[in-house]
Amino acid sequence: MTSRKPLGRYRRVVIKIGSALLVDRKAGLKKAWLDAMCADIAGLKAKGIDVLVVSSGAIALGRSVLDLPSGALKLEESQAAAAVGQIALARAWSESLSRDEIVAGQILLTLGDTEERRRYLNARATINQLLKIGAVPIINENDTVATSEIRYGDNDRLAARVATMTGADLLILLSDIDGLYTAPPHLDPNATFLETISAITPEIEAMAGGAASELSRGGMRTKIDAGKIATTSGCAMIIASGKTDSPLSAIENGARSSWFAPSGTPVTARKTWIAGQLQPAGELHVDDGAVTALGAGKSLLPAGVRNVSGLFSRGDTVAIIGSEGREIARGLVSYDADDARRIAGRKSAEIEAILGYAGRAAMVHRDDMVMTAPIGSKSERQKKDASYA
Ligand code: GLU
Repeated sequence: MTSRKPLGRYRRVVIKIGSALLVDRKAGLKKAWLDAMCADIAGLKAKGIDVLVVSSGAIALGRSVLDLPSGALKLEESQAAAAVGQIALARAWSESLSRDEIVAGQILLTLGDTEERRRYLNARATINQLLKIGAVPIINENDTVATSEIRYGDNDRLAARVATMTGADLLILLSDIDGLYTAPPHLDPNATFLETISAITPEIEAMAGGAASELSRGGMRTKIDAGKIATTSGCAMIIASGKTDSPLSAIENGARSSWFAPSGTPVTARKTWIAGQLQPAGELHVDDGAVTALGAGKSLLPAGVRNVSGLFSRGDTVAIIGSEGREIARGLVSYDADDARRIAGRKSAEIEAILGYAGRAAMVHRDDMVMTAPIGSKSERQKKDASYA
């Protein structure tokens, strides 16, 4: 496993900043905090490190500018708040960075910009060009146009997607939580802090609590999801508190934070795109024999598929689910959903007789597949986890 190293030794760093760090309900933008953050960013850039910022805060800032009452907002209300807040947010970043003669460039993304390969390559090219000219991309979700189906909904996963898309080697999630605990620390007095997480096992996922919802948005669940996206593509992740001024300097000076090791097997750019997709079009449920075969680097054959769900077309990304009900891999499927159902559980030699044409022997070829979870027996994983404590 690669081990933790000083921030100055990374090549390209994505920093995600939560709304509460940048915006105070009453006072609005926290200018002094932002200035100190920009000074930290300038420090990294002076060492030759590329820096990208995923900044939340558009909705919070818009709320404060418009003086909206507290409480939940309707979708169109938060979109209007984002429209007002995003201008102010981008301007604040641009002004603060310019104190160190750094140029900022605004990028607003929706889910489709990273899920569709052509748009993904286009967004990536723009961001790479900004980095090439020494600018700092300031990225947020394009909240004003994103309807619920095309929303990321949380900037933790958006930041992970940006990190994998740009080949970053470190993602830093700054919020009001200083890292991962074995249980929610405000509920469980025995919760212990985890400094190093070598792999995101089911046990680690369980520590993050239940599924993400509109209410827990930005909670530990989305941070662990972000960690899965980032680490699968060889990018390390740090969760740290941004509540103090200059949080990056604080990390350097030993402030507590959780570090997630990148997966040891780097994958190709295309596999990075496959692994990071947030909404696979369907699921292939496979048997234990197939899980073992995939773990050994083999393709997924129809014989190992027990069940097919979803409406997908040939070439779409599907999630591959093991018998424990857990996603183990993702890949581009070789068959439309209907045909996949017809050949599930059958030998590859029978495909032509069943479908009337000779398709690919593999349901998902290994070149089109990426493992998204560690394979191994439960007891092996538990042994590994014991070493975190
Ligand atoms: N895009 C939202 C905003 O800028 C924040 C979403 C999040 O923090 O997860 O207000």
